Amino acid sequence: KNAEALSVFDGNGVLADGHLVPLLANVGGGKDAVKAAAAGAQGVGLLRTEFCFLGRETEPTIEEQVTEYKAVFDAFGSKKVVVRTLDAGADKPLPFLTDASEPNPALGVRGYRTDTTSPGVLARQLSAIATASEGSEAEVWVMAPMISTPAEAGDFAAMCAEAGLSTPGVMVEVPSAAVSSEAILGQVSFASLGTNDLTQYTMAADRQLGPLAALNNPWQPAVLRLIQLTVEGSLAEGNNKPVGVCGEAAADPALAVVLVGLGVSTLSMSARSLAAVAAVLKTVTLQRAGELAKLALAEPSAESARAAVREALPTLA
Ligand code: PEP
Ligand code: MG
Repeated sequence: KNAEALSVFDGNGVLADGHLVPLLANVGGGKDAVKAAAAGAQGVGLLRTEFCFLGRETEPTIEEQVTEYKAVFDAFGSKKVVVRTLDAGADKPLPFLTDASEPNPALGVRGYRTDTTSPGVLARQLSAIATASEGSEAEVWVMAPMISTPAEAGDFAAMCAEAGLSTPGVMVEVPSAAVSSEAILGQVSFASLGTNDLTQYTMAADRQLGPLAALNNPWQPAVLRLIQLTVEGSLAEGNNKPVGVCGEAAADPALAVVLVGLGVSTLSMSARSLAAVAAVLKTVTLQRAGELAKLALAEPSAESARAAVREALPTLA
């Protein structure tokens, strides 16, 4: 059934009024990228670079990194590829970067924070991304995971500039980043909402624990409110920066409508979800998506928000 859905997907997220929402893919390396391109993705919204090097005891060389990144770029021709710098830690340990004995890895030295404990690794990675980008046609954007403050965003942007990378961005996946989105987006060119971690940290519920699944739900009104705040900050006077979503929330067709209604401009997901999301997006106008976002925000719980929006969408009711 999935194969059938993939083969009929025409590659675009177009609302009923013609408003375009580029649908991008989350990939973990070259093989994934080739499949995602074949499935119609309009680019890569999240390259999880740590997936290229899982289990490695030592830092990959710049040459090894260039080869991995270039394979992804080449799969997408001149399209956009958003490369996320190593998000080591918590659910994605990398022995050469993270300390397995930390008592609370999700709250520990994770993602961008490893630049303080392992200086040099991030700068070398940025240099590898720049080299791979020079040898390809792709429009390369770079973003850092686990950014918590405007100062971190500014430091990351400076490192990108030093490496010759002109489109620096951040993931908004820590509640402080959502709350400070206006100041953070003042430092960088774009943001991408990581709803998996944003939900985990907003609800203080470990994303890997089954018993906490009800809390760990991106439909939680508190999470939707933080997404709304992030977009508001991105549109504040003098900012006008794009905000995408690259967490699992983007792959839930009803939630995808709500995200677009909240002002998110691109959605990135695993390639197998693209067709189902495109199918629902084309049933609503941008104005209707905005109304459904308001409806969800007004609900008291994740369950009632989801039910209310699905009921209002003819193809999902
Ligand atoms: C997220 O946190 O939503 C995200 C996309 O990143 P990851 O799942 O890799 O932590
Ligand atoms: Mg994350």
